Formats: sequence, structure tokens, C-alpha cells
Amino acid sequence: MHRKLLSAAVALTLAAGPFVHASAAPTRARAGAPASADTTTQLPRGVIPTHYKISLTPDAATASFGAHAVVSINVSKATNTITLNAADLKFSRVTLAPAAGGAEREALATVDADAQTATFTFAQPVAPGMYRLAMDYTGVIGTQAAGLFSLDYPGAGGKQERALYTQFENSDARRMIPSWDEPAYKASFALDVTVPDGQMAVSNMPAANTTPLPDGRKRVTFATTPKMSTYLLFFATGDFERAAAQVDGVDVGVVTRRGALPQARFALDASQAILREYNDYFGVRYPLPKLDNVAGTGRSQFFSAMENWGAIFTFEYALLLDPAISTQHDRQEIFATAAHEMAHQWFGDLVTMRWWDDLWLNEGFASWMESRTTARLHPEWNTQLGTVGTREVAMRRDSVAGTHPVVQHVETVEQANQAFDEITYSKGESVIRMLEAYVGENAWKNGVRAYMKAHAYGNTVSDDLWKQIEKAAGKPVTAIAHDFTLQPGVPLIQVGEPVCRDGNTTVPLTQAEFARDQPGKAPLAWRVPVIAQVAGNAKQATTLVSGGKGAVTVPGCGAVIVNAGQSGYYRTLYTSAGFARLAQQFSALAPIDQIGLLGDSSALGQAGLQPASSVLDLVQATPASADPAVWTRIAALLDGIHARYQEQAQGGDTTRQRRFAAFAIARLAPLMAQVGWNARPGEASTVANLREQLIVVLSDLGDAGLIAEARRRYAALATDANAVPGPLRKTVMGVVAQHADAAMWDQLHTAARNETTPLVRDQRYTLLAATQDRALALRALRLALTDEPGLTISAEMIAEVAMRYPDMAFDFAIANLAQINERVDASSRSRYLARLATGSSDPAMVNKLGAYAQANLAPTSRGDVEAAIAAIKDRIQVNAVRLPAIDAWLGENGRQVAGGLGAAQGQGGSASR
Ligand SMILES: [Zn+2]
Repeated sequence: MHRKLLSAAVALTLAAGPFVHASAAPTRARAGAPASADTTTQLPRGVIPTHYKISLTPDAATASFGAHAVVSINVSKATNTITLNAADLKFSRVTLAPAAGGAEREALATVDADAQTATFTFAQPVAPGMYRLAMDYTGVIGTQAAGLFSLDYPGAGGKQERALYTQFENSDARRMIPSWDEPAYKASFALDVTVPDGQMAVSNMPAANTTPLPDGRKRVTFATTPKMSTYLLFFATGDFERAAAQVDGVDVGVVTRRGALPQARFALDASQAILREYNDYFGVRYPLPKLDNVAGTGRSQFFSAMENWGAIFTFEYALLLDPAISTQHDRQEIFATAAHEMAHQWFGDLVTMRWWDDLWLNEGFASWMESRTTARLHPEWNTQLGTVGTREVAMRRDSVAGTHPVVQHVETVEQANQAFDEITYSKGESVIRMLEAYVGENAWKNGVRAYMKAHAYGNTVSDDLWKQIEKAAGKPVTAIAHDFTLQPGVPLIQVGEPVCRDGNTTVPLTQAEFARDQPGKAPLAWRVPVIAQVAGNAKQATTLVSGGKGAVTVPGCGAVIVNAGQSGYYRTLYTSAGFARLAQQFSALAPIDQIGLLGDSSALGQAGLQPASSVLDLVQATPASADPAVWTRIAALLDGIHARYQEQAQGGDTTRQRRFAAFAIARLAPLMAQVGWNARPGEASTVANLREQLIVVLSDLGDAGLIAEARRRYAALATDANAVPGPLRKTVMGVVAQHADAAMWDQLHTAARNETTPLVRDQRYTLLAATQDRALALRALRLALTDEPGLTISAEMIAEVAMRYPDMAFDFAIANLAQINERVDASSRSRYLARLATGSSDPAMVNKLGAYAQANLAPTSRGDVEAAIAAIKDRIQVNAVRLPAIDAWLGENGRQVAGGLGAAQGQGGSASR
């Protein structure tokens, strides 16, 4: 599953480090334990399903379905009852018959709604053996992405259309199929569906045959799947179109609502290139006859795409490239999302974690593969620089109280939902990157190939992977992997004073722990692979810091950069002299090390291990000619600090905030002038991303010139459709929406209401919630709960308001909790409110969140709330204690840079260039 994508601006800002005003989904806090040999289960053992035959008849109009399922089961010990998973299903008849033939007997069905199970009781014990369990039942079609669900959208000619899809990870197959709904119960599936004749039906496998029925419907029977986990089954039907191409004998396709197919062209091309790459990398060819990517309108608060085997589902915003609004960043995200879901076709679908404890095996690996493949197949995008951002996201979460190990024990469905977090995805990815760098690219690949071959169609735990990697590498990697996956937290490598002798430099290294909000904490111990080099010298050296101490000797004399290439999962703390030397040499460092050093100094500054202003020393040392990706990161960092000042300014005194804004504008506006509003022919994609980022950040900073220019361009669109190029339209609309007055907001609202393209319409409604005007933000909240925006956009609008007004959004959600819960998918419900609140800097929010959790969440489901509380406390502390150092720095350095601070906002003036 691909985690929910954030808007480009937010995603870039999130990757910027700790001075950030709101965070992605926070996570659950729990002590970890390695996966045990006894797989966790919520079902009695003794019955194993081997094959499901399911006949499904959905009725989209009444949002219900009827079904007949026959499950082939193996009963290993005599029992009077059979218990499986079922949620919101009603059974009319359940029978059991020996597989070899013989008398059928009827069972009494009872359901346990809380446990999400159904139990079938027989008058006489069922003896061990093979049986067929037959069930007639009905269920409901939901409006959020869990189980079988519908998405409504305006179709051609304004007619309302309804399409149906399924979403089963992690535990929602049970909403459509009574099943042993746990990843280790792999079985084959034969699905047939009865749908309206004019619709297309899609599942994991191609249709084997289609039978027209006399009533204007048809029955589509799909070929039987290979053995797989229940959460990977998929079905969709609607007024769809499909385009396809052949790759290595596989029918690769994209499926969209009618009319949107041309916008899926880029995704189809991407899928072909990625499939070729993966057939090679994994050493095991993609095993199904076809691979579709099916687009759906709207959004989920949980995910953007899902790796159903042979039938990936992706929300349109992460699959379609609409020339009317899509940005360069969108294009990269579409590619990366496809690369992620396709990596799962092997890592997750062919080989599956045994239980949710090892979810990271799926998600960390797919995230790493996504980054690797995007950088490899699109080197011109320079996305490898983004890996530092991924690591920052993980470390920010991993360095405060309540983090958890990558491998963590999961018991309940809610805990499994909450396991889809930054630690599982981003730390998992970062740790893999470090280990790959340690053993070497080829050894890693060979280990992965051996793992695929050994466990195809099976289930694994983490140690199954380490075993194969260690064998391929001939190097002890399991111990390091355990240090980083079985215990939480971020190592801190302290770099001592360098000694230069005979042309080589030796630096002593000490391992501590970077625990931001626990200054006195006794450090955990890690074996840390460290790569270092002298700035400007291409030769690197590697060492393993073990037992808390080490040293590294690198060729050359000069400023030493530790974690060169930034593959290590740790923070680096230099002496103040060492840091000053690096700051002096900053422009000579590789862009990836510049970004790494910016992230470290920002985080260390926040923790009080370095002056909080040291990151600004690096900003000052960055030449205008630095890599655009470095400037993109700097813009995000400045935006994050500015957001902190904005929080402080809510008391009324805006002096400090305006002073910082003036400094940041003075630094960024000249870059905007250099980059320009209009793309130059053949410009690098990193420049396009920088342009987008600068517009967003200068808008946040209140740059009057930039805001005026965005308004001018937006107004010109009324008479000239080309006044704003497509890739910039969303960004320009974002500035206009952010600074809208009531009249403009009404105008934007009308435009949203009249919009007929679902993708653009969703975007427009979300923008209405991006206003910085408090009264208008409240109107956006109220609008979100009407029927107008559509059931899957409401939660997104409220989350958007929470980016600026977390307290207001949270209070509003609490006051309307029942309506909110209808508009958030079940998998996200226990975390959504915590996410709204997590950007708060109001001490009162701590108690409000606690009261909400007490009243609404089971004690085992409060991890996200605990994480949000830790984030809020941390923010309050940092704002109070660390911002003064930045004030002092601005007093000393700001004037010479900004050329006169304290004047009106927007003096940087980036208008009309
Ligand atoms: Zn995934």
C-alpha cells in the first residue's frame, strides 16, 4: 500500500526537518518484540482454507450485495464449530459437505460484531478431513475505501456515475468474503460477478468467460488466482476504459473511468518500463498473465494506492496526469507510486509477511525499491536527493518519546492499521538503504533474488531475509539489521577532533543516542556502519562503529564529512570547530551532503546540541548556484521556522514573525527572480520543482509581490486559458486560495461547484480549505460536512484546514464526530483526530486529546494520540526555548542579508518576472 500522498508543498515541507508546523500521520507507541515463531492469530487454529469460489452480485443502486461462497477447507482436528472472519455480513444458509461428496449438513451461524467473526455451529462434531463450506450471505457496499465500496463522480453530460471497488488491506476482505482474513492463510480464489451489461469488471486475473444474462446483466468469471493472502483480492466494476501493452508476455494495462484514459498514458508507459526492470532485478518473473492499474476518483485518509496482485488500485490524483493541473512533482509521484505498488507484486504479494509484526518487510522494501527504481529509470529527476528527506521524516518520529521498533508486535486490527506509519515505511526504507550500501549493491540484489526464490507463494519473517542477504554478502549483516529493526531510536555519531598525518585524516567517533525530548536518557547501543570523506576529495572510507566507539581514517586532509553520501541512519554531531570548517567548505560538498548537513544541523539545533541558528549559517553559506534540490530543501526549512513564529504570533505580536519573514523573503525572492514564473525550454525538472516550492513558500511568508503576481495570472485565466501553464496552475490557484478574501473565496467556490472533471474538482474543494483567513476556514469546515464536495473529499478538506488551524479543525471534528466518522475510512478512524491535532502548539490540546482518546479509543488503539501529544509538547518546548537563538542570530546577521529588516512584508518583491 502506498501511504496517502500529501500535496507537493506539504510533502516537501515535511521532508525539511523538525521545524515543521504539522506532521504526517503520527504513530502508535509500543515496546517492540521480534516476531515469534508462533504466528499471532485472532482465529482458532485447526481449520485451513485452500480455495475460495465466490459468486458475487452487487447492487450499486441499493449499496448492497448478495453472494454465494464455497470454501474448500482442511479440518485437522474434530470440532463442533468453525470460526472465520466476517464483518457486516448476514448469513442466510451455511452448509458443510465432505469434499469427496456425501451428505451435506447445515450449521447455525452466529456473528460477533466486535471480534469481526462468524461462528458456524454443527449439531455433531466435524471429523478431520477435507470439506466444502458453502455460505449464502448478503453485505453492504460502503462509501469509504474499506471492503466493497462505491465512488460517485460526475460523468459525461453531468450524469452522476457510480463505480465499485474493493480495498481489503489490512483486514477488510471480511467485509465481502467470510474468510480466514490473515496474511498467513494463503489460498487460491475463483471469483465470478454479475454486473450490468455495459460495465467493465476487473479482478486480479483476466476474465475466463463472460455470459450474457436475460435481464440485461452479464456474469463475468475470472481465472483462478495463484495462492495468495486474502488482503490482495480485488474487484471493480463501472463505466471503465482500458489501454494495454505487452511486456515480456504480460498484458500490462491501465483502467480508468470513461474519458480519462488518455491521462493514464504516462502511467502505462511507466508500468512497462518498471515491469522490465523488476523482472530482471528480482530474478523471478512476474507470475500473473496480466497487471492492471485501476484508477478511482476521490481520496482515502489512509492510502493513495494498493498493490492487489495483478490489479493495483490507485486514486486518480496519484495515477492520472491531467494537463490542466498536473505539476512536475505530480509526474514524479505517479511514477514513484507505480514503482512502489509494482515492487509489492513480488515483495508482499508473491512473498508475504507472516503477520503484521513484519509489515515493514512489505512497506520498507517497496518504499526503498520505489526510490531506487525512480532514481535509476529517471536520473534526470535527481530524486536520489530526496532520500535524505525520507530519512528526516523517519528520524523526526523516531527521536521523540513513544516511537517503536521497525519490527513491532501487533495484536489487534487497529494496531495493524496504525502500523502503516513513518517507522514502517520511511525508517524501513532508510535502514535498507544503509544495509545495501554496507554489503554492496550486487550482494544485496543476489540476497533478494535468493529470498524470492526460496519463499515464493509463502510467508516469511524478517530473519528469512537477513539469512539470504548474509549468505550472499559473506558479511555479518544480521546483527546490524537487528540493532536497527528490533530497537527504536536514532543513533548519534559524535565526531571528535581530526588528526592529519601523512596525507590521511583520522577522526574519533563516539556513538550516543539522538533522543530529542529525553535529554538525560541512557543511550541504546547500535553497530553503525559509517562512511566518511574529506570535503572535495572523492575517496571515501568505511568503518563499523561498535561498542560505542570507533574511528575512521580518510584519504586527504581538510574538513571531514561523516555520513558521506547520506546512506547512514544516524545523526552526526561535529565539534563547533569541525562544523565551522564544514560551513566554510559548504559550497564544495556534494548536494546530497549539503542536504544531509542542513537536516542534521536543524534537528541538532532544535535539540539544543548545537545553536538553533547554525542551520541559518549554512543557509547563508549556500550560493545561489547550488543545486535546485538544495534550495528546495532550504525553502522548506525556512517555511518551517516561519510557521513556528506564526504560532508564536497568535498572541498578537507579529514583530518577530515579520522579521523572520523579511529575512527569508530576502533570501528566496532573488532565487524566484532567477528561476522565473515561466519554464524555460529544456530546463531541469529540479528547477520546475524549485519554482513550485518557492511560490508556495513565498506565499506562506506573505511576499506581497509574489501574491499580487499570482492573482494577476489567475485573473488572466478568465480570458486566456494559457495565461498560466498547466504545470503551474495548481500552485497559482493555491496562492490565490490561501490569500483569498470572502469575495474571491465565493468565486473559487463557484468554480469548484461548476467543475466537471473529478480530479480537478477534488483539487478545487481542497483548496477552499487552504485559506489562511480564519472565518473562511470555518466556512470550509462547514462546507466539508455538506453533501456538496463528495464523501471522500470532506475529510481531506478538514485535514487541510488543520494544516493552519489544528485547534479549530479538531474542535470542529469533535463537535461533529458522528458525521466525521462517516467520512473517514474505517482503517483511519482511530488516527484521524490525532492527525488533525498534531500541529497544535496549544497546551490545552494535550488534555483535549486525552479526553477524546479516553472516550472513543480502546487503550490499545491510542498510540497515534500519544504520538500527537508528544509532538505538541515538543513543539511548545522548542518554540519557547530555541526560537530566541534565531532571534539573536537575525539581530546579528539579518540586517546585512535582508538589507534593512522590519519594513513592510513583501519587500523582496518577486512580481512579474
Ligand atoms: Zn506499500
